[in-house]
Amino acid sequence: MTNIIQKIYRACRQWREQKRMPLRLEFVVTDTCNLNCRGCTHYSPLAPREYAPLAGLEAAMEHLGRVAGNEVEKAYLIGGETLLYPQLEEAMQALRRNFPTQELYIFTNGISLPKMPDTFWTTAADLRIIIAITRYPINFDYDAVEELCRRNGVRTEIFGDRSMADSFFRFALDPEGRQNARLSHFRCYNRGCLSVIGDKLYPCSISGCVSHLNKAHGTKFTHIPADYLDVPRIKSAKEIKRLRDRPVPFCRYCILPPASVKYGPSKRDINEWVEKK
Ligand code: SF4
Ligand code: SF4
Repeated sequence: MTNIIQKIYRACRQWREQKRMPLRLEFVVTDTCNLNCRGCTHYSPLAPREYAPLAGLEAAMEHLGRVAGNEVEKAYLIGGETLLYPQLEEAMQALRRNFPTQELYIFTNGISLPKMPDTFWTTAADLRIIIAITRYPINFDYDAVEELCRRNGVRTEIFGDRSMADSFFRFALDPEGRQNARLSHFRCYNRGCLSVIGDKLYPCSISGCVSHLNKAHGTKFTHIPADYLDVPRIKSAKEIKRLRDRPVPFCRYCILPPASVKYGPSKRDINEWVEKK
């Protein structure tokens, strides 16, 4: 009995903490990537070489900065591989313009950092943009790129170290959508990763980027309007928090918690993302 009470207490505490979480917005600039990781949550191994049009990206930043900026703690440019975005410096400037006081980040696997031009480094330093590097178990000198960031006066953080045991997950989807959406959402590892894709805001990339999976494998993971917000119609941070804090219909596809798997290259096989029927 004590155990059950403790479990309920812990669940209530977790629920309260999650609701109090400040907003984080992830602006997806591309899903194309220079790595090819099995089970990527942006489906990058399946994604075409496409980039978010800058004008649309700026419009989304402008609107969200205006209606919800006060409650946004952190905003990110994210991929795929963010550094491949052809208009990256313009995107960095737009992000700072619309989120002047927030902590701003570029998510990257770091591989392209040694090739970035001087203008990238001065822009990042001037705009106080933090480079958040995820380390993967590949033959690459991550210490050297962290040092490179320091030499250029740019703050860096390690966002995750995927070379550690149990640090890579398989977020499988149920093609029949038979999962309990409420439970999946409660157990969700991606909660709070609000993804701005074009003029839509999704609660996570697993839902927002699923069209790559559908196109590559003919799956039918569908959205209905309750799965996202139309950015131009958002009026307040409250609407965004509601999208984040409540299950959306798409959560019925998510099998959670995820299995931890060994890191490896993608074979672009459907089983990396979809549970067998
Ligand atoms: S580096 Fe990140 S975005 Fe690129 S394939 Fe790997 S998990 Fe996906
Ligand atoms: S669809 Fe729902 S349960 Fe699945 S990853 Fe997104 S927020 Fe989490």
